[in-house]
Amino acid sequence: MRLLYSFNLSIFEDELFMTENSTTIKRMAHLLKSGATMLDKVCPKCHVPLFKLKSGEVICPSCGQRFVIVQSEEEEIKVYIDEALKELERLLTAKIYKINSEIRQTEKLTDLSEIMKSIYEILKVIELSRSIRKRHDYESKTRES
Ligand SMILES: [Zn+2]
Repeated sequence: MRLLYSFNLSIFEDELFMTENSTTIKRMAHLLKSGATMLDKVCPKCHVPLFKLKSGEVICPSCGQRFVIVQSEEEEIKVYIDEALKELERLLTAKIYKINSEIRQTEKLTDLSEIMKSIYEILKVIELSRSIRKRHDYESKTRES
């Protein structure tokens, strides 16, 4: 069993961590009340037990760091790939918004055709990225059951 720091979503931004006089113990109690479960793994930095939220996220009740728990190096690589692909999909989706406004302003059909080619490529990459992530998801689900 390996612990993996979550890279792009660093700190858990919940009011639980924003309140100044909220102590680790108070947060742990609050997490348990909200249906989170205490795990047998500890935060490598704070040495307090990690909690699994109902959403499936694993967090440290002390520093708020999110974690991903993986079974093997292979799974760890998959998690990294998935995070990179999610970021790629986010960036490409933002580009589509930009292209939409270009389409709105384009009058010439030849220009429009060029834009469509770019959109087509972007959509292809997003589709491929999503199918890779879906396959990873399926593989980890079938391993769990
Ligand atoms: Zn911690």
